[in-house]
Amino acid sequence: MTDYERQRQRMVERQILKRGVRSHRVLAAMEKIPRHRFVPEDSYGHAYEDSPLSIGKGQTISQPYMVALMTECAAPEPDDRVLEVGTGSGYQTAILAELAREVYSLERIPELAERAEGLLSRLGYENVSIRVGDGSEGWREKAPFDAIIVTAGAPELPDPLVEQLAEGGRLVIPIGSAHHQTLCTVKKERNKIQREEGTGCVFVPLIGTFGWEEKPSGRHS
Ligand code: SAM
Repeated sequence: MTDYERQRQRMVERQILKRGVRSHRVLAAMEKIPRHRFVPEDSYGHAYEDSPLSIGKGQTISQPYMVALMTECAAPEPDDRVLEVGTGSGYQTAILAELAREVYSLERIPELAERAEGLLSRLGYENVSIRVGDGSEGWREKAPFDAIIVTAGAPELPDPLVEQLAEGGRLVIPIGSAHHQTLCTVKKERNKIQREEGTGCVFVPLIGTFGWEEKPSGRHS
């Protein structure tokens, strides 16, 4: 067993299992994916710590526990088609690619999308499609999706994402202010929407038509 494998095992036991994530499929994916490959090389030594890390362009790779929790809430099944909004490093994309049949991921920053696409291809993932665009509008041509994970904080539930959810589908999204959100899970059953509110969280903003407006200074409202 390599040192990174040992660190991953410890990450799953101490940060994820202990906090109540129980899905065996999610735990196995978290133990398998080399998270250090998704962070800048000078951060490899911190890749398995209990925190988000900077990935450049003012963006972050989420805390491992948050990735596991969101994935468990989205409950991807082996035959599912999944949409991710906010590719970032591609780490959450890889976790989803382990668990679902097809993964579609949208990222607004071209450099991040390109880097994630290259890395996922080098790691051998063939069931992932990445596109540059405003994910708050979803990916209409590929809808409907059995699960949607939004990895950036929204001011409210984006209507297009609810529309693009399949019957029985699950949408996991942080909703709240620019500085603090609540992790919400939305389920569509018989065309009705059920919304459950979970833990508090802090994500970078979802910037787009159905998210926050980008300010010229880089701030958002
Ligand atoms: N899932 C990522 C990972 O595993 O590294 C974490 C991504 S980071 C917390 C959020 C990402 O959402 C950033 O890369 C940001 O550029 C992206 N983002 C923000 N608004 C977006 C939008 N409207 N459409 C697509 N991506 C967006």
